[in-house]
Amino acid sequence: MQESFSSRGSACPRWSSTGRARRGYDCALTTTGLGRCREEEGRSEVTPTGASLEVRNVEVVYDGVIAALRGVSLEVRAGEIVALLGANGAGKTSLLRAVSGLIDTHRGEITKGEVAVDGRALQGKDAPAIVKSGVAQVMEGRRIFQELSVEENLRAGAMTVRDRGAVEASRERVLEMFPVLRDRLRSTAGYLSGGEQQMLAIGRALMSSPRLLLLDEPSLGLAPQIVAQIAEIVSGINREGTSVLLVEQNAQTALSIAARGYVMETGRIVLEGSADELLADRDVQEAYLGGAGAGRRSFRDVKSYRRRKRWAG
Ligand code: ATP
Repeated sequence: MQESFSSRGSACPRWSSTGRARRGYDCALTTTGLGRCREEEGRSEVTPTGASLEVRNVEVVYDGVIAALRGVSLEVRAGEIVALLGANGAGKTSLLRAVSGLIDTHRGEITKGEVAVDGRALQGKDAPAIVKSGVAQVMEGRRIFQELSVEENLRAGAMTVRDRGAVEASRERVLEMFPVLRDRLRSTAGYLSGGEQQMLAIGRALMSSPRLLLLDEPSLGLAPQIVAQIAEIVSGINREGTSVLLVEQNAQTALSIAARGYVMETGRIVLEGSADELLADRDVQEAYLGGAGAGRRSFRDVKSYRRRKRWAG
């Protein structure tokens, strides 16, 4: 969980009453006005305040007939990491698309329900407008621009940001977070390793200084050591004040950094709880945590879940 940064009560000299940084203070968030200050080891630091996300009873249909989401509700509280688990085809990616405004580009449509960030409905906003409102998505499969350089990929992530100073500050923050990218700025992105490409995909999303980050299976296809590194990076991004909705099939990793989690099955949420509750849940253990040869399986294969569902009618 995010710490409370406002508890000291004394105003940071970087910030004016309008929420913008005062002249002479170099800060990544000068134009967003979203930061609050804290004093740590004698120096001021500005961090964004994570956004909250509410998804209420959302239904998504592709091509007018394929029902991918059948009334999904979930919540990410400001400053939280929330894990969204589920087998292939459960609807996790569709949920992220419904939030980020990318559902139309896949011939899909939200036919019912509401999505709100910080209490404001996203209905009617297109994808760039949603990025501007503080939401960024890292798509599954590290969809970076393979032919472009690392630098060009990063700058593409800041397309919606007009303020040049803010872009340079975000770039510096990303390169501090991922020193390997600084060393490869002119390299063609397609030649990076899988782990480096994932870092670039995350770095590109951070270029718009999001307050809510949607991550679609960042561990997919990566070696365990790199998965642990990515998990640490996601935790770090969250500690700096960004809320995270983390879609994962690697439940162990996701629940090790999340506060809470949801499990999806065929377009519905079938289980939710704190990370500890989910880690202790027998069905989750059997389906996702290495019980009885588990891996990328489904709740449908879990005997006790099937029994429970039958009893529940
Ligand atoms: P995966 O881990 O395999 O990506 P997922 O949980 O993210 O799975 P989705 O990709 O959201 O699941 O898919 C949910 C359902 O919607 C599936 O039945 C899938 O076939 C269908 N679907 C997803 N994208 C499209 C699309 N562009 N057109 C038609 N059907 C789609």
